[in-house]
Amino acid sequence: MTPMQIPVRAAIYARISRDATGEGLGVERQLDDCRTLAAKRGWIVAEEYVDNDISAYKGKRRPSYQRMIEDIEAGQRDAVVVYHTDRLTRRPIELEQFVQVCERAGLQQFATVTADIDLGNDDGLFMARILSIVAAKESARKSARLKRKAQETAEAGKPNGGHLRPFGYEKDQLTVVESEATVIRQLADRYLAGESLMSLTGWLQDQGVLSVAGLPWRTTTLRQTLTNPRIAGLRAHNGVVVATAVWPAIITPATHEQLVAAFARKASTGRRVARRYLLSGMLRCGKCGNKLFSSVRGERRRYVCMSGPDHGGCGRLTIVAAPVEEWIAEAVLIRLDSPAMADALAGRAAADDRHAALLLELQSDQALMAELAGMMGNREISPAEWKVAREPIEARIYNISRQIDQLTGHSALTGLVGNGDALRTSWSTLNLSRQAAIVGAVLDFATIGPGVQGAQGVDPSRIVPTWSH
Ligand SMILES: [Zn+2]
Repeated sequence: MTPMQIPVRAAIYARISRDATGEGLGVERQLDDCRTLAAKRGWIVAEEYVDNDISAYKGKRRPSYQRMIEDIEAGQRDAVVVYHTDRLTRRPIELEQFVQVCERAGLQQFATVTADIDLGNDDGLFMARILSIVAAKESARKSARLKRKAQETAEAGKPNGGHLRPFGYEKDQLTVVESEATVIRQLADRYLAGESLMSLTGWLQDQGVLSVAGLPWRTTTLRQTLTNPRIAGLRAHNGVVVATAVWPAIITPATHEQLVAAFARKASTGRRVARRYLLSGMLRCGKCGNKLFSSVRGERRRYVCMSGPDHGGCGRLTIVAAPVEEWIAEAVLIRLDSPAMADALAGRAAADDRHAALLLELQSDQALMAELAGMMGNREISPAEWKVAREPIEARIYNISRQIDQLTGHSALTGLVGNGDALRTSWSTLNLSRQAAIVGAVLDFATIGPGVQGAQGVDPSRIVPTWSH
């Protein structure tokens, strides 16, 4: 024991942080109680060390704590007072280091407002270690509490905070921004109609519509926005829809489901559900050499050169889709004209029937998914029931998509090159995917030259095909 006549130079350590135990004590209250305790012991408070808003659990550097350790090491302190051991540290390893420093410096007086610990005996050391392990467990419990809270917030359909507002909603994450909602609905319609993400980001660029981060849209951001259940008034948690949201929907749950299915199908097959552009990926800009992208302006389908971060073209060339498609199709048929074609076509007809049947199956399953999503949206079924109902349909959609992919793959073209006349009569009965596959088999790409201002129709001299066969 320290003789009474030699003053004990005490260090008071206080820390405030969001993980404050129990009462959520402020620094002033901690300091007051520690001063009272030191006075009761007859200790002189040599210095008060305070760290603000720094967790003792995460192992971040705490400047005042560090300074106190240095003072103890230098033999300047005889005692340490804290409100509770967890103010000192929440990490067992750090407590061990603290104990070692105290042992080396001969510091044996350690007091806490909540429970005194004498590090100079085995009981005190044991107690301190136990307390620090308890403190570590408390931190773990706290993180479990936070997770539970997040789960509850989600199940109540409430927003989850976050720094950036979602596109389509105000900062409160509840109020719809009508101008952006209109953009979202147009994007959804156009994507479902077969327009590519690339084309849609180009359109946003043209319209001067920026992302919530104030940047030009990229295809990845656009995909995230369009597949986010939030815009359908659904609240997702950890990737699963758990509730109907408290905010208004911008698109219907059924449209959301169609979008998710369309993106999933695109991801698994590399093709869109409904191809509307015969020459997607096959045309090049005659000015800059970049690929042209499919695009809709009003009712008119077009191929355009697009500038911007996703595209990198000159953005200065456009051609109306229908005439160039007709011209290329005709050119391909002439190219294919050879007597060997007839036999190949007989085999193809069966494959096309199978292809059409699979597409019908796919569409009916997708309609079913949309219907289920609608029931979920109207609270006719629970999220759990929805999930159970979806699984077999999703599996079926995946299988059908794979079969369609095999049928439309390039290997299916073997032997097609042949009789253009025969193919011409059945051409209009082939679906767009088949037509595109046939064109792709003979046409490497076509370069589109600049148009003449005010010219009517398409000037064939603008189209320069590069044949692969
Ligand atoms: Zn260009």
